[in-house]
Amino acid sequence: MLKLSHLTIIGGGFSGTLLAINLLRYGSMRVTLVERRPDRLGKGLAFGSARPDHILNVRAGNMSAFPDQPTHFAQWLARDTGGTDASFATRATYGRYLASLLDAARAEAGDRFEVIDDQAIDLVTMAQQCRVALSSGRTLTTDLVALAPGNLPPHDLPPFRDLAPPLYAADPWGSDISHDLAPSDRVLLLGTGLTAVDCIQTLHGAGFQGSVLAMSRRGLLPHSHAPSSPSQPLRDKPASHCAALIRTIRDRAATAGWRNAVDELRPFTQDIWRAATATERARFLRHARPYWDVHRHRIAPLVAERLAAMQAEGRLKVAAGKIIQARRHAHGLVVCWRPRGESQTREVPVARVINCTGPLADLRRTTDPLLRSLSDRGMIRPDALAIGIDTDRQGRAIAQDDHPQDRLLVVGPMTRGAHWEIVAVPDIRRQTWDLARALTGAQWSMADGL
Ligand SMILES: Cc1cc2nc3c(=O)[nH]c(=O)nc-3n(C[C@H](O)[C@H](O)[C@H](O)COP(=O)(O)OP(=O)(O)OC[C@H]3O[C@@H](n4cnc5c(N)ncnc54)[C@H](O)[C@@H]3O)c2cc1C
Repeated sequence: MLKLSHLTIIGGGFSGTLLAINLLRYGSMRVTLVERRPDRLGKGLAFGSARPDHILNVRAGNMSAFPDQPTHFAQWLARDTGGTDASFATRATYGRYLASLLDAARAEAGDRFEVIDDQAIDLVTMAQQCRVALSSGRTLTTDLVALAPGNLPPHDLPPFRDLAPPLYAADPWGSDISHDLAPSDRVLLLGTGLTAVDCIQTLHGAGFQGSVLAMSRRGLLPHSHAPSSPSQPLRDKPASHCAALIRTIRDRAATAGWRNAVDELRPFTQDIWRAATATERARFLRHARPYWDVHRHRIAPLVAERLAAMQAEGRLKVAAGKIIQARRHAHGLVVCWRPRGESQTREVPVARVINCTGPLADLRRTTDPLLRSLSDRGMIRPDALAIGIDTDRQGRAIAQDDHPQDRLLVVGPMTRGAHWEIVAVPDIRRQTWDLARALTGAQWSMADGL
C-alpha cells in the first residue's frame, strides 16, 4: 500500500500553495513546498508581480480560495479595503490575501510544513519513495510529489527569436516592457487576449504616451463583464454534443443574454469536455476556442473602459492578421504583416514588440529543466492535444508507457488536457481542495457525498 505521510509540492503559486494549505487543513501529512522565486511564494505569476493598476478579472464574490467558504475572500476584502462581493479588487490585493493564508498555515502547522526557497531541477520516483534534486545541490526524500509548474513563459516566435529586450520582449512578465519608451513610439503586441490587455495596462500605468498595435489571427479582444453580477447557474446539465450545445447557448443568449448563457455552463464545462470525443475537442480548439476565450474570460468594466478610451483616442489599434517577417531599422523594427482575408502585405514601423501569446501549453517546447528531464525520461508526456501534461482524473501524471503514476501528481493550468476549464481561481481552488481531501481521506471521514 502507498505510504502517504510526506508530500512535496514543486511550485508555490496559487495551485501549489492551495494544495499545501488544504493538505494541512484536512490531514496530518507533512508538506514541503518548493518555490524558486521568493517574490512569488504564495502568489505565483498572476498575483506576485502585479502592478497596482492590474485588476482581477473575476468579482470578489467568486475569488475565495476555498470552495467550502465561498465568501472567504469577499469578507477579507471588506475588512481590508471595504470592498464588496461585486468589487473587482486589484491582483496585488489578492496576492496579499493569499500571502496571509500562507502565513496562517505556516504558523499553525509548525514542523509539519516546510517552505524551501530553491528550484527543483529533477526528480525520480521509486517503489517506496521519491527523490527531488534542487539546484542548490540539496536532495529531498518524500513519499509523493505534486507538480504545480503553473504558467510557463510563452513560446518564442520565429521572426523575433533572435532579438532581445528592449526591442523584443519574449516573456511579457520577464522584463520591464515600458522601460525607455518615447511618447512618439509605437509598440506591437503579438496577441489580443488577456495577456495583451495586461501589457496595455502596464504601459498605461507606466505613463506611456505612444500608441499600441495589438495583433492576432482574428483580432478579438476579451469582452467586458456586465456592470451587475451574473445570474444563478443552471440546475440541469446541458446537452454535451457540440451542435446541441451551441444551440442551447444561442437559445439562452436570446432570452438571458450571452454573458449568462456562457456563465451558466461553468459548473458543467469540465464534464462536457470529458464527455467530448477527441475529434470534438480538437475541433473546438481549432474553430471555437478564440471565440470561447473572449466571451468566457472577460475583463473588469473599468479595464474595458480604459481600452475603449485608448481606441477612441487612436492610441490603441486592434488588427486581425499574420506576421510575415521583421527587419531592423534605425529606431526599432519594420514588421511586415498580412491583414486577415487580404493578399497584400503591409509594413509597420514599431519601437518594440511584446510576445502576448500567453503561457506556453505545449510540453514539447518547454525549456524548463525539470519538465524537460521528466519528459526525456518518459515520466510525463503531453496530453493528446498538446495543451498540457497528460494526467488522469485523479491528477496522476501518465507516463509515456501509458501508466498513471501514483507518486507523481500534477495540479493547475497544465492539467487542462484532462479538464479544459482549469485556468482561473474558481476551478483550481476546487481541484486542489478535492485532491487534498482525497489524499487525506477527508471526503470519507467527513461524510462527503453520503
Ligand atoms: C497575468 C495573469 C492574470 C490572471 N488573473 C486572474 C484573475 O483575475 N482571476 C482568476 O481567477 N485567475 C486569473 N489568472 C489565472 C490563475 O489565477 C492562474 O493561472 C493561477 O494563479 C495559476 O497558479 P499556478 O500556481 O498554477 O501557476 P503560477 O502562478 O505560474 O505559479 C507557478 C509557480 O511555480 C514556480 N515553479 C515552477 N517550476 C518550479 C520549479 N522547478 N522549482 C521551484 N518552483 C517552481 C514558479 O516560480 C511559480 O511561482 C491570471 C493568470 C495570469 C497569468
